[in-house]
Formats: sequence, C-alpha cells, structure tokens
Amino acid sequence: MPAYLDNAATTPMRPEAVEAMLPFLTDRFGNPSGAHATARDAKKAIEEAREVVAAGVGARPGEVVFTGSGTEADNLAVLGAVAAADGGRVVCSAIEHHAVLHATRAAGGLTAPVGGDGVIDLDAMAEVLDHNVGVVSVMLADNEVGTIQPLADVVALVRERAPDAVLHTDAVQAFAWVDVAALAAPADLVAISGHKFGGPKGVGALVVREGTALRPIIHGGGQERDLRSGTHNVAGIVALAAAVQATVDHRAADVVRVGALRDRLADGLLATVPDTTETGDRRRKIAGNCHLSFGGVESEALLLLLDGAGVAASAGSACTSGAIEASHVLVAMGVPAERALGSLRLSLGVTTTAADVDLALAAVPAAVARLREA
Ligand code: PLP
Repeated sequence: MPAYLDNAATTPMRPEAVEAMLPFLTDRFGNPSGAHATARDAKKAIEEAREVVAAGVGARPGEVVFTGSGTEADNLAVLGAVAAADGGRVVCSAIEHHAVLHATRAAGGLTAPVGGDGVIDLDAMAEVLDHNVGVVSVMLADNEVGTIQPLADVVALVRERAPDAVLHTDAVQAFAWVDVAALAAPADLVAISGHKFGGPKGVGALVVREGTALRPIIHGGGQERDLRSGTHNVAGIVALAAAVQATVDHRAADVVRVGALRDRLADGLLATVPDTTETGDRRRKIAGNCHLSFGGVESEALLLLLDGAGVAASAGSACTSGAIEASHVLVAMGVPAERALGSLRLSLGVTTTAADVDLALAAVPAAVARLREA
C-alpha cells in the first residue's frame, strides 16, 4: 500500500462528507435561489450547512459566505476589504499562500517579515503598520512548514497601530488541527477550504464578521448576501459542513494520534539520515506537518524516487511543485538556498497509519543515500 503523505496538498474525503453530498448529486438537485419545493429543499440544506460551518468556525450563521475555493475566499477577503477600505493599504505576512500573497501584490500591498522560526516578526510588523493600512492578512498556520501564528498578538498590535484595519486570517491549513473557533476569534475575516480537511475540492467559506466592510469581487445574481454571486454548489456545501462536523468531533483525538506519528517520523529521519535539519519549531507547528531538509540532495529528484517507492510527498506547496527556485516561505525564514532546495514536506492526515510512517522511514533514508551516491 502506498503511503499518502501529502495531506497539506489535499486530503481524501471523509466518508461522512461523501455520504452527505450524494443525494444532492442525484434526487435533491434544486437551485436554492428558486421558489418551488425542489429549490426550497436545496435552500434548506444550505442553511443547515451554514449553521454547522458557523459553529465549527466560531461565527454566526449570517456571517458565513460560501465560496468556490479557499483561493476565492482569500481573494474575496483581501481584494474585497481593500475595495471597501477607501484607499487603505494592504499588508500581509511574507509566508502567506499565493492566494493571499498575489492578491496583496495585485492590490499594491506590502509584506511583513517572519523570523527564522517561521513566526511573524511583531516588531517588524509594527513598523509597517500605521493609519494608512486598511487590511492586514496573517495566516493561522502555513501550508509549507505548518507554523501556527500568534494571531491574538497580531490582532492586538493591528488594533493599536492601524485601528481601522480589517484583519483577515487564512485558516485553510489550520482547520484540520487547531480550534479555529477559538484561535481565529479576534479576526474579522476567516477563510477555510473543504478539501484540506476531508471535504470536497472547489468549495470554501469566508467568515465575514458583522460590521466588517467588504465589497464583492464576483458580481451576478446576488447570492450570499450579494458577497458571492453564482449558483450555489449545494452538494459541495453540504459535504463541507459534514467535513467540518467530523473534523470538530474528532480533532482532539486526531491531533494526539497523528502528532505522535509525525514525531516518530521526524525523529526517526533526523536520527537515521545524516545532515538533516528540521524546518521551523516543532512545538509551534500543526500536528500533521513534518518538514525536513537534506544536505546535498535536490527535492525534485527525491520526490521522484519516493514516488517510485510508494511515498507521496511534496517539496513545498502543491501549487508551486515543479518550480526549481526556493519557496518564498523558506526564503522568508532565511533558510539557505542549498537547504531550501533539498527540502521535503511529509504531511500526515487523519487517515495516516503507522504503516505509512514505517514505509517513509525506510524509503526516505534509502532515497537520500542513493542521491548522495550519484
Ligand atoms: N490557503 C492555504 C494556506 C492553502 O494551503 C491553500 C491550498 O493549498 C489555499 C489557501 C487555497 O485553497 P484552495 O485549494 O481551496 O483554493
């Protein structure tokens, strides 16, 4: 059995989510915007899903906006808040996913640095914050190294230095592992994406707290309180809600079990493969992330050998896999280029087993040794 250790790229769907969505792909096919019974059935399903998602992310149902992906939720947050901020500048952390980073760049914004441990540098952040800043975006956990950011401290700083700024957090990677309802509570906008925690691809949500100024980026039929036009992906939304519920129900136990597997994997590889370093501070990371770098090895070649040995892994974020330059996250953390290019992300998920870890513990040292011999 191959070992799927790329859960930060995407996760297999939870059975609860598959089961929940099936009726909406067959009999219950209504468009929730209609006025008849078939439409009302779909509308009811969406509103029930909204309640579940709201409870899972610590929001009121009326604050949840369903979107077509995590990327879209992030774009709506950054571009929609900038548009509403009346000339206010946008600032994001240097390690944001491209969904936030590129949206910030498109809006002419700035980035704030992180330290070598991957944690936002609050002193440097303070320097770029002033009354001209209208939007700040700092992710709850990053998709490469998995560092959990001290969001409450960031929010306190933003409220003090840029009191009118809207604060967005990308909780796309965090949701599977941390209590987003509690940790993202001080943020005005919170993005999640279904396929990162056992839901389907192509559906996400943005929490827009009451009173937050936001303009739509997609115009049309006025769905989602006119913040996201487009016919609802009813099956996807229902499945997203089922995945939220299953994640919240099992998260505490999953974190303990998967965290122990991750520690065994990371410690095992650090002990058996010479010249290996761990990226970031493990105590501050989400439970599923194991990020290592090997001296004298190129990630792309390593990924190929691992794939051949039945281990699915990644060298950085899935969206940039194949690029040969060092990832912007590792560059921002000051990881030397040679180490960054020899990095490996093994991301565990709720379906990861001890056998998967055993396979990786055998395959990674063998692949690294082979590349070093070549
Ligand atoms: N934000 C983060 C932190 C991610 O890891 C990802 C996906 O890799 C996204 C946003 C984009 O989400 P989606 O794949 O749903 O567009």
